[in-house]
Amino acid sequence: MRKPLIAGNWKMNGLRAGLDEISGMGRAYTPALRARADLLVCPPATLIHAAAAAAIGTGIAIGAQDCHAASAGAHTGDLAAAMLFDAGASAVILGHSERRTDHRETDAEVRAKAAAVLAEGMTAIICVGETRAQREAGRADAVVGRQLRGSVPAEAPAARLVVAYEPVWAIGTGLTPGLDDIAAMHAGIRRVLGRLLGREAAKAVRILYGGSVKPANAGEILALADVDGALVGGASLRAADFMEIAKAA
Ligand code: PEP
Repeated sequence: MRKPLIAGNWKMNGLRAGLDEISGMGRAYTPALRARADLLVCPPATLIHAAAAAAIGTGIAIGAQDCHAASAGAHTGDLAAAMLFDAGASAVILGHSERRTDHRETDAEVRAKAAAVLAEGMTAIICVGETRAQREAGRADAVVGRQLRGSVPAEAPAARLVVAYEPVWAIGTGLTPGLDDIAAMHAGIRRVLGRLLGREAAKAVRILYGGSVKPANAGEILALADVDGALVGGASLRAADFMEIAKAA
C-alpha cells in the first residue's frame, strides 16, 4: 500500500561536478526499480535547479533541505517553498536534527514550515528523533511523540506527508538502534499520527528510518513493518551506495 521512498540528504555537500552522481543514479534506476521504490535526492539549494535538469527523464525527484515559513518578504538569505518548487524541488526536508541544533529550530517553526510546503503542493518530510541521553533516560518515545504533536500540521494530507525517524545519535556515527527498537518506534509514530490525523490517514503516511543507513544494513531495516523507506545522508552522495540501498527496498 505504501510505496517505499528512498530519500538522499546531501546536507552541505556538493558542487556542480557532483551532479554526475545523479546521472549515475538515473542510469541504475531501472523501470523495475521505479515500480518498487520512489527515489528523492535533496542537494544543497544551490544545486536544486541543475539537479532537477540532470534528473529529467530518470524518474528521480529532487527536494530541498529546509525552507522559510513565509511565502516572501524581508528574510535575507532565506528561501520560500515556492522558490524551491520553482527551482525544481517537489519535497522539502524539515526539522532535521542538524537544523534543530544549529539553528535552534522549534517544533512550532517546523510545523509552520511544513504548512508552507504543503500549501505549495509539495511533500513535507518532517524529521524527529531522540538524543542518546534521551534514549538512555527512557524518554525516546515521549520526545518523539512531543516532536510529532508539535511539528505535524493538523490538516496535513497523508499522501504528501512523510515522517523521518532519525535518532540523533545514529546520524553520521555508524551506529543504529536495534531492529526491535526501530520497529517499535515506527509503530509508535504511526499510533501518534493516528491520533493526530485519523487512523486511515496515518496508514498512508510514509515513515522513513534515517541514521547510518548503508548498503550493508539497508535490507534488514527496510524489511521491518512500518519502515516505509530511508532517509540517507552520507551514503546518498555516491550513486553506487545510494542505488544499493534503493535496491534493498
Ligand atoms: C541524515 O543526515 O539525515 C542522515 C541520516 O545521515 P547519515 O545517513 O549519514 O547518518
